[in-house]
Amino acid sequence: MSTQTDLARQTALITGADSGIGKGIAYSMAAAGANVIINYAHGEEAARHVVKHIEDNGGKAIAAQADVSSEEQVTALFRKACATFGTIDILVSNAGLQKDASFAQMTLEQWQGVLNVNLTGGFLCAREAVREFLCRGPAPDRSRATGKIIFISSVHQQIPWAGHANYATSKGGIMLLMKTIAQELAPQRIRVNAIAPGAIKTNINRSVWETPEEAAKLRELIPYDRIGEPADVGSVATWLASDAADYVTGTTLYVDGGMMLYPGFRTGG
Ligand code: BGC
Repeated sequence: MSTQTDLARQTALITGADSGIGKGIAYSMAAAGANVIINYAHGEEAARHVVKHIEDNGGKAIAAQADVSSEEQVTALFRKACATFGTIDILVSNAGLQKDASFAQMTLEQWQGVLNVNLTGGFLCAREAVREFLCRGPAPDRSRATGKIIFISSVHQQIPWAGHANYATSKGGIMLLMKTIAQELAPQRIRVNAIAPGAIKTNINRSVWETPEEAAKLRELIPYDRIGEPADVGSVATWLASDAADYVTGTTLYVDGGMMLYPGFRTGG
């Protein structure tokens, strides 16, 4: 029996899906019945592994290489996705990276490297997705919305983060990009939202959660007292992409174990 969180016959393109949060979302959306495009920049073998895992569980997936900061490569990525599955219904703009440095030491290369992938990559992929949604038009047999876009942002779209000016700036930019295009495209029934994860166990912060003292310090920032897993984000993304969330647009869902709750004030203030 189909449920409202079913993504059957829908196609989801997920950037940076060869590892971490993107992979967690790919597994969850495939389990909900979506065909998935596993985009990767460098991790070809890892992406093939994700595809195989999905196929072994009865799902449909392909791997597709593209650097999301390249306009040409993004266009080719969407062409490949549409040639394989006919169209796309869901874009998850997830690819992102950190290049940390104190502000005085930050190079232009570190600044631009992060902005190019995290923010310009989101713009290029969202623009391509919107063009496809508008060109295809509504498909009410699959979903009430003509298309869905989910940006994977961060609690650092809101929480300043010393030593990470490039990263926090990119996430703050995603927040207003998301809200602006949500406002612009709602009349066309395109839903645009963001998920802002807190600390999730992925490669991006491996050095922190693999070091016991660092992990303990990190947990002090998480009232729920556990570091998140990619599946914590996957299930929320699947719900947000589904018709169960049809009236949700222009919003950010924080998936952070309470990191946004000023945990320092539990005992201070
Ligand atoms: C960062 C992680 C960090 C988390 C919480 C994420 O956006 O990528 O490195 O652990 O925010 O600060």
